[in-house]
Order: sequence, then structure tokens, then C-alpha cells
Amino acid sequence: AWGRICTDMKSAIGQEAYQSWIDPLSLDRIDSGTAHFAAPTTFIGRWVERNYGERIRSSFVREGYEVTRLNFTVAPATPQKAAVEQENGAPKPAAVTTGEEELPGSPLDPRFTFDSFVVGKPNELAHAAARRVGEGGEVTFNPLFLYGGVGLGKTHLMHAIAWKLQEENPGFRVLYLSAEQFMYRFVQALRFRDTISFKQMFRSVDVLMVDDVQFIAGKDSTQEEFFHTFNALIDQNKQVIISADRAPGEIEGIEERIKSRLQWGLVADLHPTDYELRLGILQSKLEAQLLQHPSVKINHGVIEFLAHRISTNVRVLEGALTRLFAFASLVGREIDMDMTQECLADLLRASERKVTIEEIIRKVADHYNLRMNDLLSARRARAIARPRQVAMFLAKTLTSKSLPEIGRKFGGRDHTTVIHAVKKVEELKLTDSQIAEDVELLRRMLEA
Ligand code: ADP
Ligand code: MG
Repeated sequence: AWGRICTDMKSAIGQEAYQSWIDPLSLDRIDSGTAHFAAPTTFIGRWVERNYGERIRSSFVREGYEVTRLNFTVAPATPQKAAVEQENGAPKPAAVTTGEEELPGSPLDPRFTFDSFVVGKPNELAHAAARRVGEGGEVTFNPLFLYGGVGLGKTHLMHAIAWKLQEENPGFRVLYLSAEQFMYRFVQALRFRDTISFKQMFRSVDVLMVDDVQFIAGKDSTQEEFFHTFNALIDQNKQVIISADRAPGEIEGIEERIKSRLQWGLVADLHPTDYELRLGILQSKLEAQLLQHPSVKINHGVIEFLAHRISTNVRVLEGALTRLFAFASLVGREIDMDMTQECLADLLRASERKVTIEEIIRKVADHYNLRMNDLLSARRARAIARPRQVAMFLAKTLTSKSLPEIGRKFGGRDHTTVIHAVKKVEELKLTDSQIAEDVELLRRMLEA
């Protein structure tokens, strides 16, 4: 049963997470509702319990075992490993070496280059900054901090920088890895009492890139180590590039001093894609698909339809196109609107999920620490009126509701009040950076 559960876990959580957390476990026995595991460290046990506990328990139940608790005891995972440990004292995990070639990073995706990155207004700044850093030369933005929602091209840009740097500077030690891997390496180093070579290795690179750094939020010792590594590299004027799904200041569970340090260089965000950019991306991916499936024909209206209707997440957009081409080449039909509707029904339904005015009011009230009723009330104090205007602005821009409808939802106000609010916020966004940020943040949260 455990073997089957492992196979399921691997496909559910991905190969990398599986190898980091589940693979090191071995199941000892199940008795009176408890599954007993041996884990290499208490840390791994706790981690698994916290992140995968629920999933593992329900998998056991599905397999017919009444498991309500997981118990982790620290023990070497396999007898072989234990033997090595005894022989050599403190063995080094194979993957972490201080050798010239073997940096413990993730492989770079050959498709993620600057050539294949389509630039538009939403990603213009991030792209320009990435290009500059990719040229190497004098370190001007350090660190470069790229942030933005899922599927907007953070990883793509980081790989593009790495390719470029390696191409321009053979022998350059560029290390790219996810924050999760960073943590895994660190935990391994602790486990094998080998933090010295861990430190040496990370401090010896020319360029360090850590992807999805929000992952280390709340993980105190990893955070601490990351911070030391980061400082050491910056002090040596080595380029550091970080990505996250939100701005440094907004990552909860990361220490203030780290947050502020992360903002010392250039912080560039990737905005959600707009129609134009989606069209551009689709056109470039279309060329690749047509090369791969030369017999497939596509009605051009389809591309525009997709750019309008599919999510801002580029990964989803690409997935839609790939699916259409696969389907069309299978059934030997032209890709037209009918096929698109049929083949992408699930994606199109998902993109219909629209933000409601109630959600907007709730989120805005939360954000400004007000009660929902305050926003609907007639009170005119600035501390309430401003948030109310922001909420009206968001209602106008994120929903398709008419001005009178919006007015009604805001405690029966007149549509001219709504017009005024929308104008006011548009103005303020240009002059008041706090309001601009609030609006941007709320929009992201509502559209997530
Ligand atoms: P993130 O790391 O921000 O979640 P990725 O970099 O993994 O997003 O991008 C998701 C997918 O979308 C990748 O296949 C990437 O190549 C593609 N993509 C994202 N932005 C662009 C762009 N501007 N031009 C071309 N492809 C893009
Ligand atoms: Mg990514």
C-alpha cells in the first residue's frame, strides 16, 4: 500500500518535492491507527506532517487502512546509508560538492531564453532589467528582485539571464535553484554536519539565482542561512537574483531586516498580462505549433478569442494552444471556434469566474481594517470615504456591473457618486503612491 501511496504522491506533489520529503521516509508498521515512519531528521518528519500529513492519512484510508495519526522516529532511512555514516564519520551527500562543475542547481530549460520571451507593457521593466543583468559587466542592480503572479514569466526570465551569462562568460559559475532546493540542501548539510562546505559552495558562485523565495517564509533557520549567503555574495559584489510571487515587503513570515535588504537593488514586477501581450505570446507560440503540426490549420479568430478569454497566466494560455493542436492533429480538423469551445470548455468555464461586488467590499474592508458596514454607510470621514471610493473603483474596473448597479450595492448610492469615485481614484493613482499600491494589491488579490 505504501508503494502505491508513494506513486500517487509523486504525481501529486511533483518529483522534486517527492524526492526531498517523501522518498527519505520508510514505513515501519501500522498499529492502532498510527502509521510509524523512520525519518532521517525530526525536521523532515515535522515538515511532512505539516505539509503532506492530511494527504498521506487520507491515502491510507483509501487503501483500506484506518490511519488517523502519523508518527516519525528519527533513524537512518536505509541500512546502507547508516553503514556509510559509520565508516566515514560524516559523509558528504553526493550532490553537494565544492568541485568546479558540480553546482547543485536545477537544470535550465533550453526553451526559456530572451529570444522566446515576448515583451509587452506588463513585463517591460522586468525584461529590461533582466537583459541588463544578463549582459554581465558591472553589477548595477544588486539584488535584482523579480516578482509577479503565477505563470507570468519569472522563471523564464531567470533562466534567460543564466543562459545569457553563461554564453557571454564561459566558466562563469551561475547557480540557479528554487528556494525549496536551497532549503533542502541546507537541511541536508545540517544533517550530515557539513555546513562548512555548504557555505563555501554557495559563497563561491559568481551569480546566485533563487526562485520563488516566498517559500522560505516562516522557515527560520533556512531564512537565516539564506540571509548570510545573500549578504556574503552582495558584499563581494556578486550578482544575486531573486524571484517571488509578491513584493518583498508583502511576504509574511520573513524577517524585516531580510525584507528590507531584498529591496536594496532593483525591484521589478511582472504585471498580469493584458490582451495585447497575450496576443503577442499566442502568435509566437502559434509559430512553434505550426512547425510541429504542419498539417493543422487554424482559423485566425481563434487566437483573438483565446487572448480575450483565457486567463492572464501564460502557462494556461500555452496549455490551451497545445491542447488545441494536439486535438486537431488527432481528429484531422481545422481549429475553429466550435472546436475551441468544445476542447477548452473547462478553461473557458474557469475564466468565467468573475469577481463579485460583495467580494470587493469584503476585501477592501479587510485591507483597511474596517467593517463592511462602514463602506456601505453614509459616513464621510476620509478614513472611510477613501476606501469606499477604492472599492467602487474596483467594482467598476473588475466587474461588468453598470454604474447604477454598483451604486445600489454600495448602500443605495447614486450613479454619479460612483462616477466621482472612479475619477477620484484614477487621479489619486497618479499622485498618491500609497493609493496606487493599495489598488494594485487589492486587484491582485481579487483576481487571484
Ligand atoms: P512563473 O515562474 O512566473 O510562474 P514561468 O516563467 O514558469 O512563470 O512561465 C510560465 C510559462 O509561460 C513558461 O512556459 C514561459 O515560457 C511562458 N511565458 C511567460 N511569460 C512569457 C512571455 N512574456 N513570453 C513568452 N513566454 C512566456
Ligand atoms: Mg516560476
